[in-house]
Amino acid sequence: LKSMLRDPSLLCERAYVGGEWVDGDNGTFEVTNPARGDVIAHVADLSRAQVARAIASAEAAQKEWAKWTGKERAAVLRRFFDLMMENQHDLGVILTAEQGKPLAEAKGEVAYGASFIEFFGEEAKRIYGETIPGHQRDKRITVIKQPIGVVASITPWNFPNAMITRKAAPALAAGCAFVGRPATETPLSATVMGLLAERAGIPAGVFNIVTSSRASEIGKEFCENPAVRKITFTGSTEVGRILLRQAADQVMKCSMELGGNAPFIVFDDADLDAAVEGAILCKFRNNGQTCVCANRIYVQSGVYDAFAAKLKAAVEKLRMGDGMEEGVALGPLINADAITKVQEHVADATAKGAKVILGGGEPTQGAGYFLPPTIVTGCTQDMAFATDETFGPLAPLFRFETEDDVIVMANDTIFGLASYFYAKDLSRVYKVAEALEYGIVGINTGIISTEVAPFGGVKQSGLGREGSHHGIEEFMEMKYICMSV
Ligand code: ADP
Repeated sequence: LKSMLRDPSLLCERAYVGGEWVDGDNGTFEVTNPARGDVIAHVADLSRAQVARAIASAEAAQKEWAKWTGKERAAVLRRFFDLMMENQHDLGVILTAEQGKPLAEAKGEVAYGASFIEFFGEEAKRIYGETIPGHQRDKRITVIKQPIGVVASITPWNFPNAMITRKAAPALAAGCAFVGRPATETPLSATVMGLLAERAGIPAGVFNIVTSSRASEIGKEFCENPAVRKITFTGSTEVGRILLRQAADQVMKCSMELGGNAPFIVFDDADLDAAVEGAILCKFRNNGQTCVCANRIYVQSGVYDAFAAKLKAAVEKLRMGDGMEEGVALGPLINADAITKVQEHVADATAKGAKVILGGGEPTQGAGYFLPPTIVTGCTQDMAFATDETFGPLAPLFRFETEDDVIVMANDTIFGLASYFYAKDLSRVYKVAEALEYGIVGINTGIISTEVAPFGGVKQSGLGREGSHHGIEEFMEMKYICMSV
């Protein structure tokens, strides 16, 4: 991996704590390339005590960092952004090597990740308070915003760069210190951020990356350490519930970006070619391993067969392979469990009457975790993917008759993150957008992520929003000051 980097020093196998590069008390854990199955790095495996020390150094550093002006914080965040973009290629290579997504997508993620640092750096200058007309003649009321303190972050492997910046950027901009634990599968995309933070001039202790294979122990430390004032998590609803329970003892503020089960609806009046293109992007980006991926594709009767045929033709063209190779659209899945889950969902659907029109086959290509994309038709609400996120390259097509029917089906889930639909009729567009019980609605588009808009879910998909001017509020407390004059 080192030999593929323009700047080999970007491969960091140690953790970044209090401005120092540290080895793990528990030795190292292995990082595997999912396209080839080979070990590409041995990363510091930190103990719970080491994470406690990271939190202590963050607590000490945060006090000074909070005194910096917004403009000063903006300046170092801008340097951080510039360094990410200057090293976009190398960051992409590291990401593809440990995560598997095609290099073009990995570089796209780096640009997306960097955009949060740029955006929130700019926001640092605009953390406005409020003055409120007093309730008595002698009273003056002011509201100020202050950083919440030390922020602990837990992030997944599917967007190992951007999920960190989406949390760290607003935290740092607000004047918080950040302690982040990346997923065990993808630590290298995190440790390199420690290096770039250091080079950008972010003070020691303000930004920490604690690598560890012991997810639940570190999660407990984050929730039980009184110096931590906020937990921000992206991952499964199951782990989100555990963290919320643990955080309750300290009444800690929590932001949760959890699972989804996105409906993707194609109405009779949709532009079918655009809908197919959107479905491909939405379903097969990162090989279906995103929480905003289309998980259920509902197609109205009149266009069902045409849509199925067009989708099949388009998916057949997607090339599967090692993400480092030019022209590859589908990389490997993250691990063997991910493959098993897709296969279980296909088996469950066919047992209940669905028909495989593409794929459905066995894993291929030897050492890597490759599974050909699959499309199934004739799907119904009793099939596993109707309640459970597949998180893989499986496109299930459901047939529906009326607008009212599809809204009921689309909302029939505990999740409420992203939803999508394709239609042209203006009153339908409004009605459906309002009726979908989701935090995000994409209309005639399959891609909704941007740093300028609030990303987040309703129902059991989470709490809070990331991105946009709303995102920074999650890292600040409001203080009401009442003065008698
Ligand atoms: P995914 O299915 O994307 O792996 P998870 O919710 O299992 O989603 O994992 C998301 C992140 O949470 C990962 O970094 C994982 O290591 C971490 N994690 C898993 N279990 C726990 C736990 N009990 N406490 C804290 N973190 C956890």
